[in-house]
Amino acid sequence: MNNFEWKADNAEETIGFAERIASLLEAGDVITLEGDLGAGKTTFTKGIARGLGITKTVNSPTFTIIKEYQGKMPLYHMDVYRLKDSDEDLGFDEYFEGDGVTVVEWAHLIEDQLPLEYLQIQLFYDNTSGRKIILSPKGSRYMQLCKELF
Ligand code: ADP
Ligand code: MG
Repeated sequence: MNNFEWKADNAEETIGFAERIASLLEAGDVITLEGDLGAGKTTFTKGIARGLGITKTVNSPTFTIIKEYQGKMPLYHMDVYRLKDSDEDLGFDEYFEGDGVTVVEWAHLIEDQLPLEYLQIQLFYDNTSGRKIILSPKGSRYMQLCKELF
């Protein structure tokens, strides 16, 4: 229905696709990433970073929860996996409404704290290096963005 599907044959294609998305992002945009361990959430985030002109290496922030990078605008990279049994509120709103782009791995674990509108992205294994990437825009801003992409 309102979902958009993309196939990536390898990690470099996932990064390239994310880079294209990044070129359409604005400050205050939020992307949520879902998918099993190793599906490619952090790899996808590397592409977003590249697209934002960030040259520092992006690694999984599993233990720090949030990492910030400076590019064309800031990238706030969150991995909330560790919060799964916690009600911890790290002031996510300030990031979501901030001056940069926020990417949240395992975002469903903080579903109650997500903004009303965001771009939900799910990554699924197709085979060893293939991934199916499904974009589900929440809100008109992200629907528009998807239409520009596809
Ligand atoms: P996650 O953050 O979802 O746990 P990572 O991005 O850390 O996953 O790891 C994904 C691993 O799978 C990386 O080693 C990456 O190189 C590899 N990989 C292979 N094919 C792909 C693909 N098409 N897209 C993304 N990653 C891929
Ligand atoms: Mg990860």
